[in-house]
Amino acid sequence: MTEKSIELNVKRLYLPGVVLKQKCKKCGKELTMDLSVEYLSYPCTNEPFAVCFGCDSCEEENMYDYVLGLTLTGIDAQEV
Ligand SMILES: [Zn+2]
Repeated sequence: MTEKSIELNVKRLYLPGVVLKQKCKKCGKELTMDLSVEYLSYPCTNEPFAVCFGCDSCEEENMYDYVLGLTLTGIDAQEV
C-alpha cells in the first residue's frame, strides 16, 4: 500500500448498496453486514482496519480486515 492514509473525520460512514459477506470461522454460517444499516466509525483510507462480524448462531466474534479506498475523479478534467 503506497498511498497515504487519510483519516476521514466522519463519525458514521454509511455506504448504501455495499453488503460485506464473510463466513463465521467457528460454525461456517454466512455473515453479512449491510452498510446501508450499519456503518464504519471514523474510517481511515488506504489502511487495513478490522470489522467485527458477530455470529448470531454461535456468538463467535469474527474479525476480518478491510481497506477503504477513496477516489476523486474530475468529470470535466482538462488535458494539460
Ligand atoms: Zn458462528
